[in-house]
Amino acid sequence: MAIDAPLEGKNPFELRVDLSKHVAESVVKKALETGDMGFIHSFTTGSAVDGPGVRVVAWTAGCQFRCLYCHNPDTWNMMNGMAVPLDRAIGALSKYRRGLQIMSGGFTLSGGEPLMQDRFAVRLLTAAKQMGIHTALDTNGYLGERLSDAELEQVDLVLLDIKAWDRDRHLHLTGKEIGPTLDFARRLGKRKRRIWLRYVLVPGLTDEDSDIKQIAAFAADLGSVERVDVLPFHQMGRHKWQKLGIKYTLDEVQPPTNALVERTCEQFRAVGLKAY
Ligand code: SF4
Repeated sequence: MAIDAPLEGKNPFELRVDLSKHVAESVVKKALETGDMGFIHSFTTGSAVDGPGVRVVAWTAGCQFRCLYCHNPDTWNMMNGMAVPLDRAIGALSKYRRGLQIMSGGFTLSGGEPLMQDRFAVRLLTAAKQMGIHTALDTNGYLGERLSDAELEQVDLVLLDIKAWDRDRHLHLTGKEIGPTLDFARRLGKRKRRIWLRYVLVPGLTDEDSDIKQIAAFAADLGSVERVDVLPFHQMGRHKWQKLGIKYTLDEVQPPTNALVERTCEQFRAVGLKAY
C-alpha cells in the first residue's frame, strides 16, 4: 500500500498482510531507530472502549507475543502494516483535536504492541500531548523499559494487559515471560502513572481462581490502577488465524458465562479495585 493511502475509517478486524513488503530493510531499520515512520495496521475513530471518552486509535503492526487468543494475528508481523511517515500520522490526528477535546476523549496507541516501534510511539504520543490531546498507550508492557521516565510523562494513561500470573501459564499463553510486564507495572505504580488494567478471560485458560487473586492483589498494591476491564474471550479473530494458515487451538472454547465474568470482577473488587 502506498504511504499516501487513506488512514481513516479502517477496521482492525480486517485482515491486513504484506502492506509494507516493498519497504527496504534499511528503511525499516532507520524507521525503528528514529521513529520517522511507523507501521500501522489500522486507524480508527469513534472508539468508546480504548480509554476515557471517545478515542481515535492507531493500531500498530508488530508484536513479540503470540497469545493463543489473539484476535489480530495479522498485527504480529510489522511488515503487514502500512508504512506511515510520522508527520502524516500527526497530521491525521490533528484533524480530530477539537472534537476529541469536546468529547473528553483522546488518542490511544494500540496494536499489536506499540513499543515494538518505541521511537515512533514516543514521538506520536508526544505530538498528541503537545496538541492538548489526552494520550493512552495500550501495551502488554514487555518492552516498557524502552521508555525513559520523561517519555512516560507523555502518556496520560497506560492500558496494561496482564495475561496471566503463573509463569508457565503466561509462557504457554503468550510465548514470553511475565517478569518484564510486572516490572513495568511496578515502575508505573512507583511513578504514580495512571493504569487501566486489562484482563482477557478465557474459560479453561485464564480463569484459574488463584491466578486472578494474585493479579488482583498485585494490581491493588501498585496504587495507581484506576479500573480493571475484564474482557470476555470471543471468537471474532478465528477467521484471521485460518486465513493466515496459523494453527488455532481455541476452536472449542466458548466465551465465558456472565457468572464467570462477574466472579472475576468480584475478585478484583474484593481488593478495592473498580472492575467492569
Ligand atoms: S499482545 Fe495483543 S497483539 Fe500481541 S499476540 Fe497478544 S493479544 Fe495479540
